[in-house]
Amino acid sequence: MSTIVMSVNAGSSSLKFQVFRMPEEEVLTQGNIERIGLEDSIFGITVNGKKLKETQHIANHGEAVKILMDKLMELKIVNDLNDIDAIGHRIVQGGSYFDHSVKVDEDVVSKVDELAALAPLHNPAALVGYRAFADALPDCVHTFVFDTAFFQTMPPENYIYPLPYEMYLTDKIRRYGAHGTSHKYLTHRLAEIQNKPIDEMNIITCHLGGGASIAAVKNGRAFKISMGFTPLGGIMMGTRCGDIDPAIIVYLFRKYHYTPDELDDVLNKKSGVLGISGISSDTRDVEAAARDGNKRAILTFDIYVSRVVETIAGYYGLMGGADAIVFTAGIGENSDFIRRNVCKRLKCIGVEFSDQRNKEMRGREGLISTDESKMKVYVIPTNEELMIARDAYKVWKHEHNVE
Ligand code: AMP
Repeated sequence: MSTIVMSVNAGSSSLKFQVFRMPEEEVLTQGNIERIGLEDSIFGITVNGKKLKETQHIANHGEAVKILMDKLMELKIVNDLNDIDAIGHRIVQGGSYFDHSVKVDEDVVSKVDELAALAPLHNPAALVGYRAFADALPDCVHTFVFDTAFFQTMPPENYIYPLPYEMYLTDKIRRYGAHGTSHKYLTHRLAEIQNKPIDEMNIITCHLGGGASIAAVKNGRAFKISMGFTPLGGIMMGTRCGDIDPAIIVYLFRKYHYTPDELDDVLNKKSGVLGISGISSDTRDVEAAARDGNKRAILTFDIYVSRVVETIAGYYGLMGGADAIVFTAGIGENSDFIRRNVCKRLKCIGVEFSDQRNKEMRGREGLISTDESKMKVYVIPTNEELMIARDAYKVWKHEHNVE
């Protein structure tokens, strides 16, 4: 018998969902509710390849969930709400508490709430989303799936910062990482493609989207991740600066007397691709400008590529070698330009790159290195929703004593 599982990603004013039939992993529908709280909220849903879009006022997440549930019944995706067996909720920050997905109870909720200080934009919004679904569907099995859980296997030398040790003990300042669900999916998917056991996967996974991170995966387990204490760290991103000399922050505070919020805004929203190019945070716009010879656009890519290359090569050294590199997310799946410029500079770690394969690879799965390349390079579209649904299904099976 099939089980209906929903994966949910709730933001402060948005709610993304996908409904699966498990264990078949068939996607029944997916969609997005945006601009929650505004007069012109947008409800979008795709059924049988057809996109429906409605604009209406949706006051809060509770109302959004009610509208979604009514729609699922109207479209006959479910007959009544009890048909939904399990929901997996994406949680950005699970701290050191969670190294795997868990069934939600009061203690779990209070820990996620406590961790809000480490993910102020994400954890509270996810809890608002969870409560709205829990109210509407109290009998379904709710599971939290943490973006940080995959990285709980990192050895201490790869997550403790060289700050006074008390800051780690007392303030829990350490590397937590993010995008773990995506990096885990890539690891599992590549193991399937290569027909290898997970514990033989020694790979470097590059999630290059608006947010971007690179992970070192050793024997199938996370060994290092470029994002740090928060998703601001690591490589350069659309609007985030990634790693910089921390003294710059102290210098700016002293010189301009920024408030913490103002400086946070500079580092999180005005830096990265947008900050260097002065054009856009979207690499498509900046690529177009670079093709027209815009010097700052060219510099943007020089910095971007340099940061990706040094991270991949560094992780190769840190792990004592790797067998494959994987690209995913908006840029990783679509930008043959960035992939080419990165791969060209990785000959030293065994990458032999196929220009032809790279050009043809856009938003789908496949190899972009040559058949002879010692280091295999793949593009794999990520599927965080499926990973969330798989975990929610696993927890549901456990609850119902199903093998
Ligand atoms: P994501 O966060 O994974 O949705 O990625 C969003 C980013 O991917 C956008 O801001 C763009 O920079 C980039 N992107 C999306 N599509 C393309 C494309 N066709 N070519 C180059 N970059 C793209």
